[in-house]
Amino acid sequence: AAKAQGKDSYAMFEPSMRHGFDQEVRLRAELRKALTDRTLHVAFQPIVALGERRVAGVEALARWQHPELGTVQPDMFVPVAERAGLIGDLGLLVLRRACAEFAVWPGSHTAYLSVNVSPSQMLDASFPSKVVATLYEAGMRPGQLVLEVTENVLADESEVIGTLRRLREFGIRIAIDDFGTGYASLRYLHRFPADIVKIDRTYVQDIARDPAAVHILGTLWQLFGALGLTAIAEGIEDEAQAAMLVELGCKAGQGFLYGRPGPLNAITVDPLSADRT
Ligand code: C2E
Ligand code: MG
Ligand code: MG
Ligand code: MG
Repeated sequence: AAKAQGKDSYAMFEPSMRHGFDQEVRLRAELRKALTDRTLHVAFQPIVALGERRVAGVEALARWQHPELGTVQPDMFVPVAERAGLIGDLGLLVLRRACAEFAVWPGSHTAYLSVNVSPSQMLDASFPSKVVATLYEAGMRPGQLVLEVTENVLADESEVIGTLRRLREFGIRIAIDDFGTGYASLRYLHRFPADIVKIDRTYVQDIARDPAAVHILGTLWQLFGALGLTAIAEGIEDEAQAAMLVELGCKAGQGFLYGRPGPLNAITVDPLSADRT
């Protein structure tokens, strides 16, 4: 057994692994710097009321402009920030920047701002008061903010549920992000203090070619309705998907069809008004 173990620890120092380790150390140091320089910014993607094609909200998505690597996507740096214990600070920075931009955007009178939050941020007991302070600073009302969490936050159930409840007491809405990709989703759904469910884009991609996916989604809308949850379909890329979703009773969606993440000022609240004139 000792011999096998020795072999394993030797394998840890193979060149490729070593490279990964160096990269992680480097990214952590640079992310720490990014918390104080201007290399982190926020892109916004419209969330659309499908019937009227009106912008109902905007989702803030973190972007990192790295001096050498170019634009680094959050799927890459958010996990690094989590491992480095930086996600609390990074999350608040994104929230602060998103609120500051949103507050002066003309669409803020009718649309809401949706911001992603990591599970570990929810474990900080002072998180709700930090969010409220940030809203106050930006001059926003709690009703203008939605916080998106994945169903995996319930891995650490009791504490997180208390935090979610407190946020909702303030009037901030909670969305379950990437619904259907985590574990035990249906079993926990009724216990999750949430207002909105965002259906993962893998379900939306399937509806065009898979009749079973259509049945699953149709049944899910009914369930969400019974639980008082508003559903948003993620990753709508073409008109055929949008039409099928509307037919299934889906009222809101998000995806490249309606706009890619970009500057907030590029989003107009009524995207069809230009076509009508
Ligand atoms: P998410 O919250 O589910 O965000 C949606 C992701 O899907 C975004 O990727 C968006 O660009 C992409 N997307 C939107 N419409 C379409 C479409 O029609 N087709 C396809 N293929 N993709 C689409 P992005 O910006 O790379 O973000 C990835 C994930 O990183 C987010 O998934 C979210 O979980 C996380 N993230 C982003 N910003 C933050 C943040 O500030 N804090 C935390 N904790 N996580 C963040
Ligand atoms: Mg999200
Ligand atoms: Mg999502
Ligand atoms: Mg995601």
